[in-house]
Amino acid sequence: MTGPQDSTSDPPSTESEGDQVSNGRLFPVNTPHAFPHPKPPRHDHVKIDWSESAGRSASFRIRSHTCECLPTIWELCAAGGLLHIRRTERTPQEERVYESPWIRTPEGIALWAALLEGRAR
Ligand SMILES: [Zn+2]
Repeated sequence: MTGPQDSTSDPPSTESEGDQVSNGRLFPVNTPHAFPHPKPPRHDHVKIDWSESAGRSASFRIRSHTCECLPTIWELCAAGGLLHIRRTERTPQEERVYESPWIRTPEGIALWAALLEGRAR
């Protein structure tokens, strides 16, 4: 049996609690993430039929792209009335570029949305 604890002694330990300044986990300003981050692919996602790009076509226009903070960048490209998605994988050694099949605009926009939402990859 121990005696009753002395509960009247209150150590002054509050000085480390009430002063929580920002610890750097929030970035309300100066965020470089102005473009979307694709969500992780879902287990039932559609697999895009990627093929290695033969090289940059001179005459396509990038309509949208994902955030450049990630090692892989996706770009929605328009050329000749069709859309395709380019996937650029950046490693310290090299860049590898793949492209999706060229599809009509409504399908391309739908595929782009699906990619961003993790329904296609
Ligand atoms: Zn980012």
